[in-house]
Amino acid sequence: IEFEQCNLPSTLSANLKKAGYEAPTPVQMQMVPVGLAGRDVIASADTGSGKTVAFLLPVVVCALKRLVEGGLGGPAALILTPTRELAIQIERQTKELVVGLPNMRTGLLVGGMPLPPQLHRLKSTIKIIIATPGRLLEILKQKAVQLDGVRVVVVDEADTMLKMGFQQQILKVLENIPEEHQTLLTSATIPKGTEQLAARLTQDPVRIAI
Ligand code: AMP
Repeated sequence: IEFEQCNLPSTLSANLKKAGYEAPTPVQMQMVPVGLAGRDVIASADTGSGKTVAFLLPVVVCALKRLVEGGLGGPAALILTPTRELAIQIERQTKELVVGLPNMRTGLLVGGMPLPPQLHRLKSTIKIIIATPGRLLEILKQKAVQLDGVRVVVVDEADTMLKMGFQQQILKVLENIPEEHQTLLTSATIPKGTEQLAARLTQDPVRIAI
């Protein structure tokens, strides 16, 4: 399939072109249509596969929908990733995709960087949060962010997050999100522990392997 067949908002299609993403990668071909259809996804896909754009397109479309339904409100999408470096890359790709879309502000909530500017940015209306689990929990404990408007959650590099010991933190974060939400999970490999977490976080998931 091509990006044109996905019925993406025209600004989003134009931004894909501007970024030089002419044709979808295999993981994008499989994940974008089911993600846009609202299904949960467990994707076994490594860095370099284009997995970030594969989850970002459904995330941005979901956030746009939420904006129409719920007004400005709070964050509509949450992307959890294991490291600050990954979070920074994801935020950069998100910003590239949302150019020209009003009110699609991103917020980076990651450890290893000062907390006050992150809290300050939360005071404005952020639609898409990109976070590492520890820092987000810290911010949730301070009640500096509300996640009850979140409708789509990405758990990126789930295997790495487990290796880094983030399982409990991920589950704690998810306690702050309404039951009714879509989950998109990626993992380079899906060993037993990752499969158990993935099964726990998803409902009737579509499985994608590259
Ligand atoms: P990822 O696997 O998400 O880490 O992405 C790997 C790289 O592929 C990133 O630098 C993206 O900018 C790039 N990329 C993602 N999707 C496409 C595409 N459809 N065409 C060309 N490059 C892409």
